[in-house]
Amino acid sequence: YDIPIHVDAASGGFILPFLNPEVKWDFRLKWVWSISTSGHKYGLVYPGLGWVVWKDKKYLPEEMSFSVNYLGANITQVGLNFSRPAAQILGQYYNFIRLGFDGYKEVQQNSMDVACYCHEQIGKMKCFENYSKELQNPLFIWYMNPEYDKTAKWTLYDLQGVLQQSGWMVPAYTMPKNIDSLVVMRVVVRQGMSRDMADMLLSDIGNAVAGFEKLKYPTQSRLDYEAKVKQKGRVFTH
Ligand SMILES: *Cc1c(COP(=O)(O)O)cnc(C)c1O
Repeated sequence: YDIPIHVDAASGGFILPFLNPEVKWDFRLKWVWSISTSGHKYGLVYPGLGWVVWKDKKYLPEEMSFSVNYLGANITQVGLNFSRPAAQILGQYYNFIRLGFDGYKEVQQNSMDVACYCHEQIGKMKCFENYSKELQNPLFIWYMNPEYDKTAKWTLYDLQGVLQQSGWMVPAYTMPKNIDSLVVMRVVVRQGMSRDMADMLLSDIGNAVAGFEKLKYPTQSRLDYEAKVKQKGRVFTH
């Protein structure tokens, strides 16, 4: 079948080419016609920058390009906004020439190492279970161990709240429709998250859990969760 593919490589587009260049997901595949990636995620640029590239000009849908006679030249461009700052593009360009391929590779490898370390340590805690065994990108999610969940007086939302008090933003959220009684928690490791910081986070998580285990009564979020589970059942599938 002739089915063109757009690859949404928001995070992975800035990881795989550096850490696993042999993995084919890009224009080396015949049907990949376009790829997008976020400059402000692993591209290491401040918020608001994204990229989309087409394999060749001929794959760019005509409806998307506009030719405008403006300021003395015929400008063909994708998009409708004229008055936007180009600072983010300069930021991306600067990082490319400042760090180079090897620099990006080192930064991403470091994030990956720290993420793998956190993943391993979280996986060792009896109250948690990792969603995946292997990491593709320096980020991962986990959920409450199914056995532990049966008697726990807290939820990952409570953990999110306690971690927030020490300045950590570790979001807890539900999976999509049909498995939306499964609550997961996510860690995203980027440049600047050192191994020392990872130990601080893990120690804050350990202390929070120790606190929860002293609870005599369930938290409000546990009560809400149990009410939902009564209707929908406990879900631990993936
Ligand atoms: C973040 C993300 C997006 C949105 O990209 P932005 O550059 O933040 O607009 C789209 N798809 C996936 C898979 C993402 O992770």
